[in-house]
Amino acid sequence: MTTRPEDAETRRDVPPVICYPVETLPQPDMGLYTRARDRLTKTEEVLVAPRDAATFHVPAGHFFRIVSVEGPQVGDLNLWHADDLSERFYTGKTRALHGTHLTTGQQMWSAFPHLRPMATITHDTLGWYGIDRYGGSVHDVIGTRCDPYTHNLLKGGHYHHCCHSNLTRALADHLGVPLAQAEPHVHDVLNVFMCTGFTRDTGQYFMKASPVRPGDYIEFFAEVDLLGALSACPGGDCSSEHSSDAAACHPLLVEVFKPEGGALDGWVPPAANGYDGTHGR
Ligand SMILES: [Zn+2]
Repeated sequence: MTTRPEDAETRRDVPPVICYPVETLPQPDMGLYTRARDRLTKTEEVLVAPRDAATFHVPAGHFFRIVSVEGPQVGDLNLWHADDLSERFYTGKTRALHGTHLTTGQQMWSAFPHLRPMATITHDTLGWYGIDRYGGSVHDVIGTRCDPYTHNLLKGGHYHHCCHSNLTRALADHLGVPLAQAEPHVHDVLNVFMCTGFTRDTGQYFMKASPVRPGDYIEFFAEVDLLGALSACPGGDCSSEHSSDAAACHPLLVEVFKPEGGALDGWVPPAANGYDGTHGR
């Protein structure tokens, strides 16, 4: 136990300050994206099998959707620059900029030294959900992805269809490399359709049944050429547990769309980050 200082309540009552005010963050032109998404042509679709993952490619300037089909299902999404796997989605900084859960108008940022938008969320049929009475919301950048290492620590055994392993197999197959070479590229995810938060009393990460239903989708605009990988989590709708074959699981559909010619006139792909990279030397 620690000693409580006399001014404890005064110190607690200091109001919070937003770490990263986003007023100066370059804003995506949502009007342009909204007009462009009015007329889209589907160019590709990939069905991700339950408890497995698949990769897909989205050219810069195209849109992609992750669609719920058959039943409530959570997906774990990784994104890389298609030409440079070192530029990958950075959940931590995305969380610092936009908050714990993402929705329409927010962006998925890439790792240092790139730190630029990789994708912009252009539509989210679960946007109505907001924050529920438990502090839960949808599409988090909190959780890391279910993985066999944590599962082994907590429960022992060797479960091979955690999202981490699914993403690793899918990326290895796509690149034509051994699993050990693909695994370091797998990173913390956007938890698509997953409903999560932190308990108010203990601050623990919680999940609850996803509100997603077949037909729901989240849609992204690719700001750069993207390689994506999506795992249909073994947790299914994540209402009870993950990292096992116990939950009912469903496939997820990824669809890629091309806008009409001229629809993106005025769109400028994101530039490399402006920091000079000298770190004081
Ligand atoms: Zn998972």
